[in-house]
Amino acid sequence: MLPYSTVGEAEAALGRGLTGAELVWLRYSAGIPDYLLFCHNILFLFVIFTLVPLPLVLAELRWPSLVARYKIQPKVRHPPASFLRCYVDVVKIFFFVVGPLQLVSYPSVKLVGIRTGLPLPSLWEMVAQLAVYFLIEDYGNYWIHRWLHGKWGYEKIHKIHHEYTAPIGFAAPYAHWAEVLILGIPSFVGPALVPGHMITFWLWIVLRQVEAIDTHSGYDLPLSPTKYIPFYGGAEYHDYHHYVGGQSQSNFASIFTYCDYIYGTDKGYRYQKAYLAKLKEHGDENGQLNNLKSE
Ligand SMILES: [Zn+2]
Ligand SMILES: [Zn+2]
Repeated sequence: MLPYSTVGEAEAALGRGLTGAELVWLRYSAGIPDYLLFCHNILFLFVIFTLVPLPLVLAELRWPSLVARYKIQPKVRHPPASFLRCYVDVVKIFFFVVGPLQLVSYPSVKLVGIRTGLPLPSLWEMVAQLAVYFLIEDYGNYWIHRWLHGKWGYEKIHKIHHEYTAPIGFAAPYAHWAEVLILGIPSFVGPALVPGHMITFWLWIVLRQVEAIDTHSGYDLPLSPTKYIPFYGGAEYHDYHHYVGGQSQSNFASIFTYCDYIYGTDKGYRYQKAYLAKLKEHGDENGQLNNLKSE
């Protein structure tokens, strides 16, 4: 809870006038305990899990011709019931794992020093911190994911996430409860090392989930703003990992491509890309992933 409840008190404490954003934040958060501010993440996550995958799911079910050309595995047709089943499974994961994990994480958030008061961070401070969080998450996730593709890790834990060989947005958080917990660690290392404001933390949780849904969407959309992020993997990159499945020793990174490049785990993917490019060059308009299945 903020140590001041009026604009006058806040301005006196800061020794200057409040910005518009700080005024909004003060009015909103002055009477809310820090624990409840942190718990906003649970609501954000639920809304994101539910709403962000919806546009592409609706497009695939109602207007498939609109998006068919961007589908990464065009021959795979998910029955409508499978979208609902996936969503229901994800809601269960949310209520039994993701939500409770958030509820009990508060002491660590407090311990590392994520603050809720004024002044608010500048835009550049937020962008720099988010970039660090993404880089750390990507690196940690790479090694954990690589470990999950070992015999024990895959059979006991990671196999569930790979039930979708052609992923859909709803399947991004679809995983064994242990995987959800383990992969929560690299998500928290960034904010622990470079603690920022609660708003930055909210943004981090939101953007990380939106990114995961994007990479599991099953569509490579040409106008996606993520195309402008350097070394960003995207849907096509992670789709290949799901397509190959349990045997996959390629494309372990969750966000960027540089880890797989540095550690040589993108060879299968690059070979496949070159092969599909060759197919297209020779006039096969359907040079897509599924063609390999008939080779
Ligand atoms: Zn995997
Ligand atoms: Zn995945």
